Amino acid sequence: MSETIFSKIIRREIPADIVYEDDLCLAFRDVSPQAPTHVLIIPKEPIASLSDLEEKHQALAGHLLLTAARLASELGLEGGYRLVTNCGGDGGQSVDHLHFHLLGGRALSWPPG
Ligand code: C5P
Repeated sequence: MSETIFSKIIRREIPADIVYEDDLCLAFRDVSPQAPTHVLIIPKEPIASLSDLEEKHQALAGHLLLTAARLASELGLEGGYRLVTNCGGDGGQSVDHLHFHLLGGRALSWPPG
């Protein structure tokens, strides 16, 4: 896949408010927050979207979800939160590097637009 702005964030070539990092993933605050807490959790491997996950990514996929749940706790979202990934054009995906939005800190409406 072609490189996105998230690869540059991983390499620290552009700034981001990073809240967590390990060998497999990075989490940083969304530059345009849609809730009081809005963090993006991304794999360091440049996978384009959820639809591009393969069997070999099973452990990585689990790691991303467990990391999101742990961050929700650490960021104080005991009232609840939403974890969402936009996939493809109709899904509203604008950056073609898999990312999970962790949103919380206010009551979130449903359904999404
Ligand atoms: O799901 P979608 O692809 O639309 O989400 C991309 C997200 O990446 C947006 O919420 C946007 O605000 C965020 N972003 C960011 N930092 C950048 C570029 C985009 O947090 N430098």
